[in-house]
Amino acid sequence: MAMQRVVIVGGGTAGWMTAAALAKLLPGQCDVRLVESEAIGIVGVGEATLPHIRAFNERLGIDEADFMAATRATFKLGIEFENWGRIGDSYIHPFGTFGPGMGEVDFHQFWLRLRQQGMDVPDLDRFSMACTMARMNRFALPSRDPRQLNSTFGYAYQFDATLYAPYLRAIAEKMGARRTEGRIVTVHRDGESGDVTSVELESGEKIEGDLFVDCSGFVSLLLDKTLSEPFEDWSKWLLNDRATAMPCRTEGAVTPFTGVIAMPFGWRWRIPLQHRTGNGYVYSSQFLSDEDAATALIGAVEGERIAEPRVLRFKAGRRRRSWVNNCVGVGLASGFLEPLESTSIYLIQAAITALLELFPEKQISPVDRDEFNRLIDLEYDRIRDFLILHYHATERTDTPYWDYVRTMRIPDTLAEKMELFRRRGRVVKYREGVFLDASWVAVYLGQRVIPEGHDLRADPPSAESLVAGMQKLAADIQGLAGGMEDHAAYLRRYCPMKDAA
Ligand code: FAD
Repeated sequence: MAMQRVVIVGGGTAGWMTAAALAKLLPGQCDVRLVESEAIGIVGVGEATLPHIRAFNERLGIDEADFMAATRATFKLGIEFENWGRIGDSYIHPFGTFGPGMGEVDFHQFWLRLRQQGMDVPDLDRFSMACTMARMNRFALPSRDPRQLNSTFGYAYQFDATLYAPYLRAIAEKMGARRTEGRIVTVHRDGESGDVTSVELESGEKIEGDLFVDCSGFVSLLLDKTLSEPFEDWSKWLLNDRATAMPCRTEGAVTPFTGVIAMPFGWRWRIPLQHRTGNGYVYSSQFLSDEDAATALIGAVEGERIAEPRVLRFKAGRRRRSWVNNCVGVGLASGFLEPLESTSIYLIQAAITALLELFPEKQISPVDRDEFNRLIDLEYDRIRDFLILHYHATERTDTPYWDYVRTMRIPDTLAEKMELFRRRGRVVKYREGVFLDASWVAVYLGQRVIPEGHDLRADPPSAESLVAGMQKLAADIQGLAGGMEDHAAYLRRYCPMKDAA
């Protein structure tokens, strides 16, 4: 079989994740070239991830402790949301489950039933290993034995986004990927098919390919600028179009979770790394100026700032199709959803996984291309609904921003999901993909979407036996988490950052 010449346009996180995966996982089947321009640079934010990244790194043969040391990473057990339902509220969206179900009935249904009967049962987060560890600032790697309580949580990383791409670059180049430095000034297309045939650099060099991967970031050089693929704008639901980012020194504990604090006109992130804490205010320019956002952020962060606030602009939505002709968009070139649930790197990974599965032999098949687009649409649509839930399920009335999101018309797909949960705590099941039941339950309950009823199959066990079982479970979780090491101590032992070792 002839080798597919793959040209990756862009060397940010998306570009180097794609290059490393193709070079490593399709050896001998594609010739990988990557073009990037240091003068243009990369976005360089994006510090919080989802647990799926571990599988990606594992497939590339990455040693976890080495990767964490190199990217100055910390562990992430979930996200703490503050002030979302009401000012003063706090809940954690954990990676992992809330207690074991019985048969086909989820744990939260039994818990709901007891609460609805007025029984005294602990809050739901007491049945989550990840929540309990996060609140106690503890960490240990999960057990691989599914019978063990400490197998019931997952984890991801918080890392320095500017260090992940170079780390992957070394892997990709070792596997034969070739990098070219330079700015692409012209994209050449076949007059008949419209396919891209080559990219031409400022230097005059032309790089030809069979398949092009657009990882050019917000500029979307191939999908937008060359192929004019329309952008589906979701900003009527996801208003935020700016972020101002500013790192500071870490003050207090290095928490094994990302902080997401609702603000008057958006929200701010707090992401502890080994060497600093990342902060940013994500907001809507309709309601807040860049200057006021920067002032609010400076006033809110706990530690001494180590750089001035930097403004980034974006729009929520995605290209109607991510794979058009012989160009596949990966990363910001194909779409953007705000980093509230740390989904961008996950979306990059999902696109790479789909591309690997559907990687063309010599000819690109329209069926494969359609399937790729279907899979990516599904991922984007689900994440979109999940994000909108955070805004819509609020009781905040303190600013016009919160008034708008609380009262806006939401997509029918989300309205149906919320109605199902409100009636009987039912969560729409996904067989695969991101944000399974526990995630939805955490956000619904955390933001005061309280079911009126419960699944009738949760009724047979006696209330006394359920309460006793739950109290024991909460105590076991507390005991297990309490015996774990402090998160910062764990990092110092397991993966101290390289220049501090
Ligand atoms: P970029 O980093 O912009 O890379 C684009 C590449 O294309 C660069 O190498 C550039 O040089 C090259 N390029 C462009 N034009 C040309 C040209 N003409 N010629 C040659 N080369 C060219 N994601 C998460 O998962 N978690 C987070 O917590 C998170 N937080 C975020 C916060 C903010 C405020 C923003 C804006 C994004 C955040 N993201 C987050 C998203 C994350 O930053 C991106 O998904 C990730 O960095 C991938 O970017 P990229 O590689 O697609 O684009």
